[in-house]
Amino acid sequence: MGNVLAVPTDASTTRGAVIDPFWSMVATETLRTPRESGPDKVTHAVPTLADRLARRHGPVATAGLVVSGRVDEGLGVIRRSPSIGRRDVRIAPMLRERVGAPVVLDCAVRASALAESMCGNGHEDFVFVRLGTGATAALVSTGPVIPTVAEWPGDIGHLPIGPNGRTCTCGSNRCPESYATAPAIARLHARASGKPATTGQVVARAARGDAIARRVWNDAVQAPADGIAATASILDNEVIVSGGGLAESGRSPFVPLHKRLDRRFPGKRAPTVVRSALGPSTAMLGAAIRARQSRKNTHVLSSESANASPRPVG
Ligand SMILES: [Zn+2]
Repeated sequence: MGNVLAVPTDASTTRGAVIDPFWSMVATETLRTPRESGPDKVTHAVPTLADRLARRHGPVATAGLVVSGRVDEGLGVIRRSPSIGRRDVRIAPMLRERVGAPVVLDCAVRASALAESMCGNGHEDFVFVRLGTGATAALVSTGPVIPTVAEWPGDIGHLPIGPNGRTCTCGSNRCPESYATAPAIARLHARASGKPATTGQVVARAARGDAIARRVWNDAVQAPADGIAATASILDNEVIVSGGGLAESGRSPFVPLHKRLDRRFPGKRAPTVVRSALGPSTAMLGAAIRARQSRKNTHVLSSESANASPRPVG
């Protein structure tokens, strides 16, 4: 069993990492692939990264590509992705020839939940909520990630629960994703203040008392709180593990999130929201596990690495 290529993408970058059979990250490269450039930027970036890394470390056995949004992993088709910006892209078949190895496609939240369940902080039953380019969730129950029907992940970003307001990319106007993602925060802050700002800058300005930043940040926290409350009301789960860019922006989202959840569950214990133990590497490790699993499914294991277990890459 050889190395695998793990490729997580987000709204601005595509990262490639070579992971060896013992789950060590051998090398990594990153290319800028801004959403505005469309899916062609990503379809060019993946073979470019594979070529560059293969020149130094040899060919890979399989590649795992994860994107935010809805995917049909069986067909290798991206149905809708806020970080790609176009619908129904047959990306895995297209990339297979150019990468020179089978390419497995999965959505970022499912791959991240898989990584968290195998290498995270030991929770067996949890909802993984990913807040970054989009707002999505995946359910993990006693180990494996529960598979979804077709390509529809836990799309909490499009639960119709927000205030009537901004028109979402999906066409509705009550979606948390219109408020609680990095692009939404940047857009709402720029619209209200005339100044562009990253999520980190909005958090810092809100902490200094800036009224516009506070309003944008409050709405950004309220929206996932509503989505998480709706999810927890149905599933009755105790733990929410959160990953993605917003969860990585320090403690700031978690304190107000807990307060709002407490208010949503009067007289009951609200679910606890914890940050992913794997940090920014969650999606990358998920991509590597997916690539490795597909290899296991189609080939008999015979190498020394058959007993190696996934662990946080680094
Ligand atoms: Zn929507």
